[in-house]
Amino acid sequence: MSVRELVVLGTASQVPTRHRNHNGYLLRWDGEGILFDPGEGTQRQMLRAGVAAHDLNRICVTHFHGDHSLGLAGVIQRINLDRVPHEVTAHYPKSGQRFFDRLRHATAYRETVDLTEAPVDKDGDLAVTPSYTLQAHRLSHPVESYGYGLTEPDGRRMLPDRLAAHGIKGPDVGRIQREGVLNGVRLDEVSEIRRGQRFAFVMDTRLCDGVYALADGCDMLVIESTFLDEDTDLAVEHGHLTAGQAATVAREAGVRHLVLTHFSQRYTDPDDFERQARAAGFEGELTVAHDLLRIPVPKRL
Ligand SMILES: [Zn+2]
Repeated sequence: MSVRELVVLGTASQVPTRHRNHNGYLLRWDGEGILFDPGEGTQRQMLRAGVAAHDLNRICVTHFHGDHSLGLAGVIQRINLDRVPHEVTAHYPKSGQRFFDRLRHATAYRETVDLTEAPVDKDGDLAVTPSYTLQAHRLSHPVESYGYGLTEPDGRRMLPDRLAAHGIKGPDVGRIQREGVLNGVRLDEVSEIRRGQRFAFVMDTRLCDGVYALADGCDMLVIESTFLDEDTDLAVEHGHLTAGQAATVAREAGVRHLVLTHFSQRYTDPDDFERQARAAGFEGELTVAHDLLRIPVPKRL
């Protein structure tokens, strides 16, 4: 299988700090690169993380607050400067089209790239490729916000003992995979469904149906935890999550690897987010993100 990993470019909410850039995340998925929420400074963070403009195939923006979108101007100019030869598709809330237009045309430059605008105005599928379906779900934030999910199609895993029991070997294995039946033996008798992997990106939201829909059964969930649990009132008021809320969603949804990020500058100890996530009963893999971290999508079970 090709590389599937998250490259963390920035982890700060609202304002960059000395240790955290504005948001920014690259998901590498089978040779494609999907850039999520490029905040200010993303172009330079890409350089530091070894991510080239040529690596980008899609850009997904959850909403038009600066910490999720100010980097669009620089990133879009960079893919044009570098003459990225393939199409790049941008998804963002349609209600923010005027913001996208301004960021795309913030200053003068020579447009060389086929940048497709694919704004989002409802829940559902945005793209279907051989290695994933990209979905959007509406979130709950003071400005319109969408989370994104990738789901790999289910495949089939061949079972060596069943193949042997039916005397199927060598080129016949490929034949039954292609044709679905061989000498009266059906494919489902010698194989089982291999569940497709799932990834979701949930930024800037209160608890809402979209959060649960996106988190459901994820191998990796990247989710904001702007606040600690003692500031739940602030989180609700400003349309954000706490570490405990994010971890509770992940526990209930059966998430395997939880990545917490988008931290408020008011907190100094990242370990507090881990402690509260564990106190909420999340027992899977847990990462409190920091800039320039690379996190592999967990191996299939
Ligand atoms: Zn934010």
